[in-house]
Amino acid sequence: MDEVDRLRTGLVEFTRDLVRIPSVNPPGDVSEAAEVLRSKVEALGMEARLVEPRKGRVNVLGELKGRGGGPTLLFNGHTDVVPEGDVALWSVDPFSADVKEGWLYGRGSSDMKGALASIVTAIEAVVNSDLELEGSVAFHGVADEEVGGRFGTRYLARKGMIRADMGVVAEGSVFDGVIALRPSVRGVCWIRLQTMGKAAHASHPAMGVNAVLSMSKLLLALRDLRLDLGHHRYLPDPTLSPGTVIRGGVKTNIIPELCTAEVDARTIPGVSAQMILREVEGVIERLGAEDPSFAAKAEIAASSEPAEISVDHQAVEVARKAAERVVGYEPPLRGGWGSNDSSYLIHDAGVPTICGFGPGDHALSNAHGADEKVRVQELVDFAKIYALMIAAICGGGSVPDC
Ligand SMILES: [Zn+2]
Repeated sequence: MDEVDRLRTGLVEFTRDLVRIPSVNPPGDVSEAAEVLRSKVEALGMEARLVEPRKGRVNVLGELKGRGGGPTLLFNGHTDVVPEGDVALWSVDPFSADVKEGWLYGRGSSDMKGALASIVTAIEAVVNSDLELEGSVAFHGVADEEVGGRFGTRYLARKGMIRADMGVVAEGSVFDGVIALRPSVRGVCWIRLQTMGKAAHASHPAMGVNAVLSMSKLLLALRDLRLDLGHHRYLPDPTLSPGTVIRGGVKTNIIPELCTAEVDARTIPGVSAQMILREVEGVIERLGAEDPSFAAKAEIAASSEPAEISVDHQAVEVARKAAERVVGYEPPLRGGWGSNDSSYLIHDAGVPTICGFGPGDHALSNAHGADEKVRVQELVDFAKIYALMIAAICGGGSVPDC
């Protein structure tokens, strides 16, 4: 922990270096951020390997090898960030990484370049402390998380490139200044809707069926749909956001015959994408029964499963003890609203994984919004927590006294 304090300036500067690289997704080229990570982990004496399944989607796989005989602990974080949005809404340059009153600003600061810097600093502190490790530490700085992980964690998991005994996805888990631990994560189900109408001259609307109006009706009906699919101990109930995208019509004087729209749904363990689709289809059937001119169909465009780790797992126990040692309280178990790469680690790679444990405040950081920021103290706290986790899991089984 003292070593992390000594590395504090370097931790902040490394976060700023990463934030200043606009690794925005789309388009998703993270090669520059990956290169910065690669040279850093190599400087720490780790083996580094680059995996680039698509041009610019560079994944950095680092490993600090232990003596052998102990488990491998994986830390996962993504290098891509969402676009900055309307710059006029920011009070700072989204990529200048300004530090003001204890907060570090910039796109990706809380989601999740600060976490990447905390992980690297934890490993650096462990290396500098000459701890004897039996187990190994793996660090994956991945691409593509913000668009679903196809060329990032999902790719690595499905190609068998992830070997670890347990993992941590270092996504934000701070709620209003309180460090929590997310043992579970919601799944995603994206549904594509299409309404079918009948084209006609707009001067004679009764001759046609307006597919855009049919879609409007469908989206409003989905907005009012009450999903009753069960509850989860830590996660918010399943949600449906109909009409996040809509496309229809070609010309002002033509009644549109087709309209497509998209729905974002989030699932919890026990609720599948198919169950969500059936709910949507039920609404389509009801509207069709009420109005014979209404015609629509729905299909699943993409999905990832919800995931969870047992709260009795060693990784969870050690993480909570380590946090208590650093911040003085045992982090509560909580669920976030979003989804992340832990789904692929758990389901595709078979690695029991904490679904969110890292800097980034769900109430205050405004991830994905203007003036995104992360508390510098959180970066330091998590670097210490991760270092203690490495010492405990890879070095002998208990959180060391400090
Ligand atoms: Zn993220």
